[in-house]
Amino acid sequence: MKLKDKVAIITGGNSGIGFGIAEAFKNEGAKGAITGRNKDTLENSVRQLGTDFIGLAADVTDNEHLATMFKDAFEKFGKIDALVVNAGGAIAGTPMPTIDQASEAGYDEYMDLNLRSVYFTVQKALPYMKDGSAIVLIGSSAAHRAAPGMAIYSAAKAAVISLAKGLSLDLLERKIRVNVLSPGTIDTPAFDKLAPEGYVDQVKQAWVNLIPVDRIGLPADIGKAAVFLASDESSFILGTELLVDGGMTNISLMK
Ligand code: NAD
Repeated sequence: MKLKDKVAIITGGNSGIGFGIAEAFKNEGAKGAITGRNKDTLENSVRQLGTDFIGLAADVTDNEHLATMFKDAFEKFGKIDALVVNAGGAIAGTPMPTIDQASEAGYDEYMDLNLRSVYFTVQKALPYMKDGSAIVLIGSSAAHRAAPGMAIYSAAKAAVISLAKGLSLDLLERKIRVNVLSPGTIDTPAFDKLAPEGYVDQVKQAWVNLIPVDRIGLPADIGKAAVFLASDESSFILGTELLVDGGMTNISLMK
């Protein structure tokens, strides 16, 4: 019970990696809120987590939504001990483009979701967070390794890795630690947004071919690492990145 009685907020906790983190937190004794935009999937995910969790609907790219969401969570639980800034990733209907195809609007959309919203999620949470609490930003192995069409997304995630350092310094007096957890390829609904219809399994397999442990990652793999970064077990760790990618970034396979 590494998070017993801790209150955690997990953005995008209604799907994929965020839900895997919420399940892991619940299994370690935490309670709190998951957030997302889709009320139906939010309700469904909350039902699976049980009565210690609530769902809060909010668009993380809207600062007013963020402020209301954290106020509501604080009114319900009276404190916030851990924040996981997970909402982000691929945007349905806006393919990740190569530079010859990118539009200004698409650039802004990806940067707003994957960088700007991360910064302001932290800012809007801070008035309600306890001194000594932990913030986990979800980065990506894509920050370290180029992949087709992912230049804008990867740059946003690289900036998130930098944010963990700068924000840890900004929050030093309050002893709030900020770290980044960077997943590799994880089996989530994000692939339905990214891969051409009918090619989801092929795209996943192409990634697995690059992963030394020879399997796709699971949301539970990220959940376990998030528990560590949110708990007191990592109290000497701040401003750093934990890669959870089956070895993909640092080990080259000569297949
Ligand atoms: P997902 O599509 O299953 O989940 C994305 C979540 O973000 C959803 O809960 C969605 O509601 C939320 N979200 C998206 N836009 C939002 C908005 N504007 N306002 C509020 N919520 C919003 O995808 P996932 O794969 O679970 O991705 C979760 C995080 O993990 C993302 O930050 C993504 O970049 C990162 N990541 C995923 C992978 C992977 O292989 N799946 C790899 C590296 C990093």
